[in-house]
Amino acid sequence: MREKFQRFMYGRYGSDEFSKALLITMLVCAVLTWFTNGILDTVLSLAMWGLLIYSYVRMFSRNHPKRWAENQKYLSFKNSILGRINREKNYAQQRKTHKIYSCPGCKQKIRVPKGKGKIEISCPKCRTKFIKRT
Ligand SMILES: [Zn+2]
Repeated sequence: MREKFQRFMYGRYGSDEFSKALLITMLVCAVLTWFTNGILDTVLSLAMWGLLIYSYVRMFSRNHPKRWAENQKYLSFKNSILGRINREKNYAQQRKTHKIYSCPGCKQKIRVPKGKGKIEISCPKCRTKFIKRT
């Protein structure tokens, strides 16, 4: 049985990061169907089956370059999302201790420590000076 399976899988793509993500999305859809009904439930069930079929097709595929390209696309998508989340996190962190203004001259974002009262800020990029209360 094991040998049969190995022979069957020979030369096939198998799983990668993207198939893991598909699986997780599928599980999320499955869980969501418990809390929905009507058209939304139908859509989620269809999405779930679609994802299941798609991930199996990928796994048993012999077209490695195409699967690899899909995975790369997924990874860069994931990285851009993670990057955005990290930036937002950083920004939220900074807002606790700093105020962020954009320069009236060039729209450059300028970070100023909070609680300094009225101060004159000069833009490091275009040298425009403006007064703000921090
Ligand atoms: Zn400026």
